[in-house]
Amino acid sequence: MARRRASPRRAGSGEPSPERGSEPVELKGIPASPGVSIGRAFLLDSEEVAIPKQAVAPSAIPQEIARFEEALLQTRKEIMDIQEKISKELGLEHAEIFNAHLMFLEDRAFIEEVVQRLKEEQLCVEYIFSEVLRKYVQAFSKVEDEYMRERASDVDDVGRRILRNLTGLKRLSLAELTQPVIVVAYDLSPSDTATMHRQHVIGFITDIGGRTSHTAIMAKSLEIPAVVGLQAATQRILPDDLIVVDGSSGTVIVNPDPTMLKHFEELKKRLESLDQALLRVKDLRAETPDGHRVHLAANIEFPEEIPSVIAHGAEGIGLYRTEFFYLNRSDFPSEEEQFEAYRHVAKAMAPHPVIVRTIDLGGDKFMSELRVPREMNPFLGWRAIRFCLARPDIFKVQLRAILRASVFGKIKLMYPMISGLEELQAANRILEEMKQELAREGKQVDPNLEVGAMIEVPSAALILDLLAKEVRFFSIGTNDLIQYALAVDRVNEKIAYLYEPTHPAVLRLIRQIIQVAHENGLWVSMCGEMAGEPALALLLLGMGLDSFSTSPVNVPRIKQVIRSVSTFRAKEVVKEIFRLTTGKEVEAFARARLCELVPELCDP
Ligand code: PEP
Ligand code: MG
Repeated sequence: MARRRASPRRAGSGEPSPERGSEPVELKGIPASPGVSIGRAFLLDSEEVAIPKQAVAPSAIPQEIARFEEALLQTRKEIMDIQEKISKELGLEHAEIFNAHLMFLEDRAFIEEVVQRLKEEQLCVEYIFSEVLRKYVQAFSKVEDEYMRERASDVDDVGRRILRNLTGLKRLSLAELTQPVIVVAYDLSPSDTATMHRQHVIGFITDIGGRTSHTAIMAKSLEIPAVVGLQAATQRILPDDLIVVDGSSGTVIVNPDPTMLKHFEELKKRLESLDQALLRVKDLRAETPDGHRVHLAANIEFPEEIPSVIAHGAEGIGLYRTEFFYLNRSDFPSEEEQFEAYRHVAKAMAPHPVIVRTIDLGGDKFMSELRVPREMNPFLGWRAIRFCLARPDIFKVQLRAILRASVFGKIKLMYPMISGLEELQAANRILEEMKQELAREGKQVDPNLEVGAMIEVPSAALILDLLAKEVRFFSIGTNDLIQYALAVDRVNEKIAYLYEPTHPAVLRLIRQIIQVAHENGLWVSMCGEMAGEPALALLLLGMGLDSFSTSPVNVPRIKQVIRSVSTFRAKEVVKEIFRLTTGKEVEAFARARLCELVPELCDP
């Protein structure tokens, strides 16, 4: 989640906005948070700090140094204020993101280099500071090591803050917005999202980021339509341009013509009234018209999402992605800190179950503190359970915290990315060891704690009967299962057209997982994005999936599908789709059947 931005620009060197007239422009990105927003653009990164290159008299050097020290103090105060605000609103772990910024403010080598060059070059401190800053940011951002590159964005962030204090320029912060805007940014930092004025930010669009980027996650949990990974949005959009964000399809329209505007205004109205109408099913059971009960849960990344989970009528948490605890910070979360978070979630959701997934670091989720070397194929590399088994010191702390929290509600524990039996057995051995350790310490643990495995690697799907002996449930992680089954990198936009949940190979795998799990007496959930797509949920229902887990905002739609379609009908649809031969055919067929069976969810 490193932010890679240019270092401060010299005065007058702002980039022109390329090849744009007043014609509407359509940009395609990655859908990050559903819904439509229409509003004026607020370019977060467009404001540049103009830096004069002025000579100063030798007698004025002490004054320049004093200004520099004042700016450092002012910056420290600002960061500490933000830390306090975030700590109150979102919890201590989010506030600790700023420790790296505070450390930079005390970096003797950096401060001394600025002072030394000031004395030698006799130019104003803004100019000298920006030169030294640029050198540092460039040096950090060129190194291969992910940890060092993340330091570059920290240095860049704090450096901009110091420069604004030196030049006396104020950056309009997202907390100070007074009108509704669509935020357009290269990326949004955790401090941007945490401090923004929630009523006035009606949409996000960013140049970088994927489905799991901090921005996407926050947008979804705040229910703000968002599109990420647009690549050049900040260059193609000017402040105050009229923007349409369609977060469901990943489309952004810049300066729409009246026909387009009318289309999206109507779409927005239809989606809003649909959302409103669907909330009526919030407290109703996820049960088919012929009485088949399905479990419908939500995915979360942070405990702060629980109000949204409850508001959308989910019956528990089907996936708690705990690795977010470890990201954006410079130390490891302690057992106590994790225990508090897991206990809070378990208590808030009781009597509903909470499936806590052990950390899935690696792939596209890195923790800078680990200094994991760059890998050629990170998704095929040192990731998730592989990482945990290699670092039992880190794994054990988390297992102890989960086990201790298990007596405060209905926690279930799940391992990510299991690819073979030995891995699962090794993880269970460590879990057993931790249970015994806690028993010796007189600490209580739920004796019936259920343990499950994510099925997201094709090898695991093919040996499900063997894995079934070691666990009580399975959860299908289609985000990864699809990428591994089809050999399609899930974050590479160039081959996104090949990433097909409806590919017959994927459907055969899913059907087999459900069948074999049931033959072995186990229940199966799905927590990948596929479970949140109404047309696909129809197929999953027909295949006999026991539990669906998706973003809280998708829960009412999936409940509506379940409540509208009998298992008999859903099975018929499945029979028919297995006669089809391509992903595109299956998708078109599933959509058509959804339109017939649940017309209110037919493409609005
Ligand atoms: C998945 O792979 O489907 C999944 C739910 O896990 P993640 O998206 O966190 O990899
Ligand atoms: Mg996964």
